[in-house]
Amino acid sequence: MFRQTSWKKTLIFEQSSPGRIGHEVETLSEIEETSLNRIMQKIPPGLLRQKQLGLPEVSELCVVRHFTRLSQMNYGVDSGFYPLGSCTMKYNPKICDLVTTFPEAQKIHPYQDPRSVQGSLQIMHELAKWLAELSGMKKVTLQPAAGAHGEYTGIMIVRKYHQIKGNLDRKREIIVPDSAHGTNPATVSMCGFETVVIPSNEGGCVDIEALRSTVSERTAGIMLTNPNTLGRFEPDIEEITRIIHEVDGLAYYDGANFNAIMGKVRPGDMGFDIVHFNLHKTFATPHGGGGPGAGPVGVVSRLEPFLPIPTIDFDPTTYEYFLQYDHPHSIGKVRSYYGNFSIILRAYAYILRLGYEGLKAVSDMAVLNANYMKTLSQKIKGFTILYGKDSFCMHEFVLSAKELLKEKNISALDVSKFIIDHGFHPPTIYFPLIVPEALMIEPTESESKKILDEFIDILKEVSHFAYTDQQDSISEKPLNASVGRIDDVKAARQPILSYRMLKQKES
Ligand SMILES: *Cc1c(COP(=O)(O)O)cnc(C)c1O
Repeated sequence: MFRQTSWKKTLIFEQSSPGRIGHEVETLSEIEETSLNRIMQKIPPGLLRQKQLGLPEVSELCVVRHFTRLSQMNYGVDSGFYPLGSCTMKYNPKICDLVTTFPEAQKIHPYQDPRSVQGSLQIMHELAKWLAELSGMKKVTLQPAAGAHGEYTGIMIVRKYHQIKGNLDRKREIIVPDSAHGTNPATVSMCGFETVVIPSNEGGCVDIEALRSTVSERTAGIMLTNPNTLGRFEPDIEEITRIIHEVDGLAYYDGANFNAIMGKVRPGDMGFDIVHFNLHKTFATPHGGGGPGAGPVGVVSRLEPFLPIPTIDFDPTTYEYFLQYDHPHSIGKVRSYYGNFSIILRAYAYILRLGYEGLKAVSDMAVLNANYMKTLSQKIKGFTILYGKDSFCMHEFVLSAKELLKEKNISALDVSKFIIDHGFHPPTIYFPLIVPEALMIEPTESESKKILDEFIDILKEVSHFAYTDQQDSISEKPLNASVGRIDDVKAARQPILSYRMLKQKES
């Protein structure tokens, strides 16, 4: 079992000692000094920093130890099971990291003449083509840097589409189911539309009648993930996209859950017009903590003119890859250059390594693992499945601890802390919002049956403690982690996020 270490919690600032250095900055040459001064003179004095930066003064060894210790107090996919639903915290093969260290990948610059980086452009062009094939879209942009950024790109395309047709005054609404990820309604507002929420039916899917009565001439589009966040595949998906198209709305596919469907079904064939991918979920980039990601967006052919510029195209007469700026209705740029190249490269290596059959096998295993866990966990006293109890789930499922709370006063949060104490990362909790005391479990394809069984045993144990009235031994957990129970409300209301904030608090 994984145990986090409990090092003394000292900030690197508190280890600072005046004059100590870990890295010597090279002194500037005379030419460099002159040009630096020239640049400095152009900066308005009001924008120049007056005070010192206040960086910690520490030795190299001190830095190494500090971050090694922090990593030992942390938990990641490389330390253990991480069934965080909707986030697809699967194993990211190390070979995908390796390719990003090649000099061909590292020693290039986005301003280089495209003719001198044909290999990199080819990689991006091919990845975009593969993603288009997997999703049933015509063309893909790799620019967006995250899922939410992909959503923004996609809904800006929806906006421009209606604008060009002269319908934007009337096309004001975007439909989002109540099981949606929070980024969906946020994106709708960011892009200047109104969110119209439709309820799920008893099966946890879109209520078609509710959809019909909501759709009108004001409908600009719909945002859906399928399978949805409950792990349910919409049985009426073609009907849903047809209803939206009838009023000239566009159907947006939130592809964060792509791990379930690779090589199985394609959003394009379901009738969707725009799709985003989370390369940092499905395609081999480690994520969490806000690191770099990629959220490529694919569109059907009639939306191609709206894509961000430039796209990467191939000229068959000169055999050259080039940057295509000719997208007459382009929404513009959504990010500098071409996107996060190292993330793109990882996805390319991942897909190349697995091939089409391999990707299909990934989805097979992801779905099999989820169903195995769903079947076993819903038999445990105190846990129930509120949507789709008797049917297969896709890559994830949502367990409710509603009864455990009602009967034994143990909440989903208590269950999570108990899981942490047993050396695993807990599932996503209290999401989706329509399930009370939700525990959203996504095992991914990476884990063995043994690990899945160990997790089920932890759920059995927490249920056993609760129903033998040993609640105390649950509510005091975690004891075996680097951090015990924190005051969630205080952490949210009075967060201390920097050394400066800490100093202010102390003074
Ligand atoms: C993760 C996720 C997103 C957002 O992706 P980010 O890369 O975190 O911005 C959107 N929708 C769903 C269903 C997700 O799981």
